[in-house]
This record gives sequence, structure tokens and C-alpha cells, in this order.
Amino acid sequence: MKIRIRRWSRIPTPCIGAMLALGWICSGIAGAADEGSVKAFVGARIIDGTGKPPVEKATLVIRNDRVEAVGTKVKVPAGAQRINAAGMTIIPGIVNAHGHVSSRDNLGKYLRDGITTIWSLGDTCPDARRRTEGCKSEFELREETRRAEPGTLPRLYVAGPVLSGTTPESARKAVDELIPNKPDVVKIREDDYLGTRPKMSPDVYGALIDEAHKKGYRVAAHIVLLADAKGVLKAGADFIAHSVRDVPVDDEFIQLMKQRDIYYCPTLTREISTYVYAETPALFKDPFFLKEADMADIKKLEAPGFQEKIRNDPDARWYKEHFEVAIQNLKKVSDAGIKIAMGTDSGAGQGRFQGYFEHLELEYEVKAGLTPMQALVSATSGAAKAMGISDQVGTLEAGKFADFVVLSANPLDDILNTRKIESVWKAGIRVAARNSSSSPK
Ligand SMILES: [Zn+2]
Repeated sequence: MKIRIRRWSRIPTPCIGAMLALGWICSGIAGAADEGSVKAFVGARIIDGTGKPPVEKATLVIRNDRVEAVGTKVKVPAGAQRINAAGMTIIPGIVNAHGHVSSRDNLGKYLRDGITTIWSLGDTCPDARRRTEGCKSEFELREETRRAEPGTLPRLYVAGPVLSGTTPESARKAVDELIPNKPDVVKIREDDYLGTRPKMSPDVYGALIDEAHKKGYRVAAHIVLLADAKGVLKAGADFIAHSVRDVPVDDEFIQLMKQRDIYYCPTLTREISTYVYAETPALFKDPFFLKEADMADIKKLEAPGFQEKIRNDPDARWYKEHFEVAIQNLKKVSDAGIKIAMGTDSGAGQGRFQGYFEHLELEYEVKAGLTPMQALVSATSGAAKAMGISDQVGTLEAGKFADFVVLSANPLDDILNTRKIESVWKAGIRVAARNSSSSPK
């Protein structure tokens, strides 16, 4: 069946936002800005996110919020602001196909680290907690991103509450109750948490998926086990939101993924977060991590009692033992031609650091055997295609949003170079540094 995808293009552009707020002024601003906000980044190495080889000594022209031209033969338009980008590498804004947000602070961290688009796959802020801790639902935060001043918050697409049911009827009802909120995707979770909780039977998740499809929505499925991954695929799931982690993927799984032509989202760093805090991890010494780190979080994770708890946690041990399975499965599915969308599950629990984890995920995709270019594609056009928004973001091509990251070193030489960020641009506007007066509050 043809699934109608809810596209981000429905989200008001900054200009539409300004029109709503200021009425008549917008067209005047746009007219003036046509002359005043043309920028040309000259002399850069440009990795456009399509997977094509990088273009050396290229020019990127942006007009207002869009890419106007990219290439070596591009002329700098008269009156454009010329920016010398010699020695720099420009990549598209990073797209995270599986994160979680519960506050404006989360959004700011993503954006400043170059993650310009996030698919937040399920509320981590239940209503009761929201009242006491001030955290926000995904729907509330999506509204804030739509109303935000340009360049201050990333693009956000959300699932809202993760859906489940105990019967096919309750499952269909859960979908029907979600729809008025206009989610961007429906999220389900098929997981018995290593045998400690009940999980949905196939007829229940089948009803969730079927009802979502009937209403025109795609379904992202959280899975752990190969059997469940096959089950949700047979039921029509549209996105595999985690690695298969129990056993190596088999031919049947690969065939199912290919038949559905959908994306596999490894979230390797989610696995790392379950066991790495058994001792003080290397990332706590990474200056790129520390620039956005909250010392209170570090203290909690470094506390001897907490480390001891993780060391003795049988779940942490299982995830650590099975991390290698996840790593090998990523290489296997990638080699089989299955498309990969970078995602991390950052924000879903303690120690899953938004912004940093996306760069760490890229590092581990490469450790799994993907080339740096394959990893970059998974985090740009791949994730954007998985989300159905590749006509707007994910590549540096004329007409797309001018979301990009300027790096001082080439990530194709070393994927760690994605952390060498000179500047982040969203919709043609430079993202302010942390704690500057215009940064997100
Ligand atoms: Zn998640």
C-alpha cells in the first residue's frame, strides 16, 4: 500500500513564521534579504552527502535559507558575502534518524554539534514527570522549533508517545488517539527487556502497524531480537530503529529488508551507553564532549556506587556481550545492500549524550567496517531519505535547505574529524555558540 508520508515541508519556514507574527513585513524583509543574504563559501572541499566523491576547491552559494549552487564552476554572485573556506571541508547538516528530546536544552546541544535535523522517536517525559521536572513532550518541543527564531533550534520530527496495546482493539485505539497530534511517524516497541516484561503478540503489533498505515502514517519499530525484527517486517514496519543484537542476521531478514526497501538504524552508541559507565569512559576526557557536558551528569555517572551497579547489572553484561553481534550485523546488512540511517537513541536514558553521541556513532559505524563516506551518507542523505524529507535536507544541492557544517579537517581521512567543527549553519544562519546571547535558552 502507498503510505502517505508527513513531510516537514508542512512546517512553516522562518518567513512564514515571521508572516504569522508580523503580517505585512515579511515580503519586505524577503525582498531586502534577497540582496543582503547571499553568501559564497569559496575554496572548500565539499562532501555533498549523496555519496559522490568530494569536490575540491569548490564554491557553495547560499541565498537566504537555501542552497543556490555548489561546484567548481560556480560564480560568486555580485554583492554576495564572500567567505574564504580554503582548507575547510563542508558537509551537510547531520541528520539523526533516532534520537529523543525532552527539553530545549537538548535541542540546542544537538544543533551546536552539527545535528541540524532530529527524528525524536518517542516521548521520554511522561505527563506526571513533566509537571514536577519541567520537561516537555515531543509535540510541545516540535511546536517550539516551528516558532523559534531562525537558526536557534534544529528541525524536529516526532513520534509522540510510543504506542503499545494488549489486544488488537486497544492497539488500534492507541493509534486513533495519537493521530490528532499529527505525529511525523508512529513508534512501536517490541521488546521484553531481556525476558523481564511482557511484549506484544504479533496480532497486537500487527494491528498497530495496520491502523497506522490505514491512517497514512509510517511505523518505526524498536526491536532487539532477530525473530521480532522479522515479525514486525512481515507485519509491515517501515523502519528498523535499532540493531538486531541477539544473533547474526540471516538471509530471510536480509530478503525481508530488501523487499520492503527500508532503512536499518544501528544505534550502536545506545548499546555502548548500557555498559561503558562501569568505569570512567574515555569520552569524559574528549574536549569535544566536555564543551557541552553538564558536570552534574558526569558526577552521577562517575560515582563509585553507580559504576558498581553497572558492573553488576546482568542487562549491561548482555548488551556488552552482544555489542559485537550488532557491529557485525551492521557490516553484514550494509554489504548486502541494505540502506543505513544513522541514529543513536541519544536522550533516551542516562549517559546518552545528544550531539556527542551522533559523532560517536559515526566513529563506530566506521569501526564496524563502513567507509567514512558510507558513514557520512548514513548521517545525511540516508537518514533524510529514511525520514522521507530528502527533498529538503540531507544533501548540499541547489534548492535544499542551507543546513551544513564547516569542518577544519577532512572526515574522509578520519571520521573523528566530524568533531572539528568551525561553524554550524541552519537555514543559512550561523548557529550561535553555547551561552552566547542568541543561543537557545
Ligand atoms: Zn529510542
